[in-house]
Amino acid sequence: MTTAAMDGARHPGDDEAPHRVLLDAGWSTAWRPAPAREGTTGAERVRELAAGGYAALPVPEEFGGAGASLAEVAAAQRALGTADPSAAVALNMHAFTVGLMADYWQRHRDTSWMLLEGIARTGALVASAFAEPGGSPNFMSSRSEAVPTTKGYRVTGTKYPCSLATTATLVCLTARVAGTDETILALCPRSSPGLTVEGEWPSLGMTGSDTARLVLRDVELDDRLVFHRGPADVIDDNVVSGMVWFAVLLSATYHGVLGALLDEAYRQVTGAGAYGPRTALLGRATRELLTLGGACRQLAADVTSGAIAGRAALAAAVGLRASLSDTRDRVLGAVTPVIGSRLYGRGQRAAHLLVDSLAVHHHPPSLLTCDEAVGAFCTGREISFDPAG
Ligand SMILES: Cc1cc2nc3c(=O)[nH]c(=O)nc-3n(C[C@H](O)[C@H](O)[C@H](O)COP(=O)(O)OP(=O)(O)OC[C@H]3O[C@@H](n4cnc5c(N)ncnc54)[C@H](O)[C@@H]3O)c2cc1C
Repeated sequence: MTTAAMDGARHPGDDEAPHRVLLDAGWSTAWRPAPAREGTTGAERVRELAAGGYAALPVPEEFGGAGASLAEVAAAQRALGTADPSAAVALNMHAFTVGLMADYWQRHRDTSWMLLEGIARTGALVASAFAEPGGSPNFMSSRSEAVPTTKGYRVTGTKYPCSLATTATLVCLTARVAGTDETILALCPRSSPGLTVEGEWPSLGMTGSDTARLVLRDVELDDRLVFHRGPADVIDDNVVSGMVWFAVLLSATYHGVLGALLDEAYRQVTGAGAYGPRTALLGRATRELLTLGGACRQLAADVTSGAIAGRAALAAAVGLRASLSDTRDRVLGAVTPVIGSRLYGRGQRAAHLLVDSLAVHHHPPSLLTCDEAVGAFCTGREISFDPAG
């Protein structure tokens, strides 16, 4: 069963529970996920959500989208994370990529609006393929190879794991230009000859996220679809903006997932079953999530207002990403004795949420690099995402 199929396990009273008054304050979104239909596969659920307006959420209104800000997209991701972790983690890749494209358009006012308009018009999804087999501790470098041609590049490589593998219309991917130290970032139609989906990702959780292996064999890439190129370790406005969007949306997504787990825990101790140690543990888990949520919304607000920018924003985003992982572990530590062995039970919603939330440790930037990156900024050194460097 996918986690999508467990959607109905949320209870009607969850939204009014006192801990929800604390946790939900300040998260505002007009978009709400429709409930999953019984028996829907992960890919079907993702398609339905995209067609229901999600794909166009971050696209500016003048191009037919909802014009949602970073904070508003984050609130939508959080709502989806509570209802359906797998769909949320998959659509997070689309939301972050399209959010970055919208931000790019705001900064450059170039022809990228045509892509944004196409996404809003068709509800097309954009996957983001950085990870490669053997680990990707430095998300800014790539082993896939792009050979220059008269019209653009010919790309060969494997992207794995990649969410939205069968549901995306476009794939945003990285590749190293042959014989140089330059990396390109380009949008590649998923229907391109030579681009195939070969096998799902055999993960324990997030099983409805349409995550699989993408293989590219001599895929022709039109130069007009290359929207960024440069040496692998050069940090520019696109890297900063991409990291901010990714870290904020990822944190909001898992804030939603962990909130659903907290709902499970609180449900267990209301009434006669509530007594001292459990109340304290729930209080601890709740304050952890409250702090994470506040930091997430604050970063979104500060970047949007310009209060923080450039490398400081990058360091703050990387810090948020690492703190998210820490918070996940602390929340789990607190709720484990409260929920008890249901957390370890096959088919239990709480156990699904535990395993889904474990995925948080395996998103970029790698936890091998986060603290070093924040420390480097604070001691006046260059930020690097290469754990070897
Ligand atoms: C639910 C989910 C969805 C995802 N969706 C996407 C997506 O859509 N697009 C995308 O680009 N990425 C996606 N990712 C992948 C993510 O970006 C990571 O790059 C990937 O999971 C690798 O994580 P890691 O923990 O192995 O970290 P890494 O930092 O890559 O590796 C950690 C350490 O393990 C080593 N290592 C890793 N793999 C191996 C191996 N096979 N053999 C030997 N050593 C190894 C590394 O060298 C390193 O020392 C997703 C991840 C999750 C959890």
